[in-house]
Amino acid sequence: RHKEMLNNEIITYRKEHLGKSLSLQYKVPIKMVRGAGQYLVDQYGKKYLDTVNNVAHVGHEHARVVKAGQEQMSLINTNSRYLHENINQLAKELIETLPPELNVLHFVNSGSEANELAIRMMKAATGERDIIASEVGYHGNSNMCIDISSYKFDGKGGKGAPEHTHIFPLPDSFRGKYRGRDAGKLYADEVKKCIEQVHDKGRKVGGLIVEPIISCGGQIELPDGFLKQAYAYIREAGGICISDEVQVGCGRVGKTFWGFQLYDVVPDIVTIGKPLGNGHPLAAVACTQEVADKFANGMEYFNTFGGNPVSCAIGTAVLRVVKDEKLQQNALEIGAYLKTTLNELAEEFPIIGDVRGQGLFLGIEFVDKEMRPLAAHADYTINRMKDHGILMSTDGPDNNVLKIKPPIVFTKDNAEELIFYLKKILAEDFMRAY
Ligand code: PMP
Repeated sequence: RHKEMLNNEIITYRKEHLGKSLSLQYKVPIKMVRGAGQYLVDQYGKKYLDTVNNVAHVGHEHARVVKAGQEQMSLINTNSRYLHENINQLAKELIETLPPELNVLHFVNSGSEANELAIRMMKAATGERDIIASEVGYHGNSNMCIDISSYKFDGKGGKGAPEHTHIFPLPDSFRGKYRGRDAGKLYADEVKKCIEQVHDKGRKVGGLIVEPIISCGGQIELPDGFLKQAYAYIREAGGICISDEVQVGCGRVGKTFWGFQLYDVVPDIVTIGKPLGNGHPLAAVACTQEVADKFANGMEYFNTFGGNPVSCAIGTAVLRVVKDEKLQQNALEIGAYLKTTLNELAEEFPIIGDVRGQGLFLGIEFVDKEMRPLAAHADYTINRMKDHGILMSTDGPDNNVLKIKPPIVFTKDNAEELIFYLKKILAEDFMRAY
């Protein structure tokens, strides 16, 4: 009776009794039973190198993080209306990583909740509800988040942009609307056009939300000068700027702790998710005193689980591990090594049209000679990599971009293993036929 269910029984049960839009990874799905560092282990004891999971930021089941959670869980877990040191401690340590202007925190439980709150704050701070966001952007699963996620409403099952959402073209300088030197300025002009669109309707802009590297867009680094100029236009129009750091935050991009810092700007609101809890549901919204004051208009913001002592103990442990194990530096070094080596591979295998990203948040785009996307080749690659015990994922509007965003404890040996098998697979017949 208690014997392990076979995988196909699990699959059948899911299909009948779990949400019908819940998908599975891989043609033959895997059942993972353990995680350790940058590895996952399946039911047969097969070990996989994980280059996908940017949630297990400091490594799957990191001992210090697990211990912090277990110890606090055995003491007390309550809501944040009681005094507790843990919430103050996590706030202090997070604020230390942020520019001085961003020094008020609200703790929540997911990236969606963080963006949901950020938009409520935008509305409270500006009195406006029109928001500008990127094409192929994804910001979460709630009503409001879907309404600003072109990745969803412009995709299958979507109904296009709602009245108050204004989408600028994906600022992709490889295959996007504008390429080359002036791309940053030209995409910023597109943001300006969105602002004018709002004005033409007799309304004003609430704000702009954008990821520092657009993940679902296919790991799109923002072109030079774009964010600075876009922020300037938004602020000129009375709007506020939100940086969605749910994917890229907490040291992953290497050069800087937060993604927006790559572009020398300071947002009004920063949303933080996935990495902060290393797998535990913990997220946060950082904002300025001014935004926080306007949001506190008399209506209380209460969040049952947000900022509880267990979550905060875990979040603090994560930040300390990043610091103590010098993981931001590791992301910088290993990311740079990977990028250089991938660029060398691109010379040998022209199917690699572009290698981009920062730190351990990279993308490899497959195209043919006419720059047409090669989705089947990307899919083939991740399935073949899986055969060799390496987990990878694909994304981008044409599903032709391989993403690399592993736990940031990823080592040089791991990078070499990844490159070794990638090179082997790139030489296979299927990969050469396009
Ligand atoms: N923002 C971005 C950029 C994301 O990638 C995601 C999740 N993939 C979210 C927000 C939503 O986070 P969550 O799934 O934790 O609600």
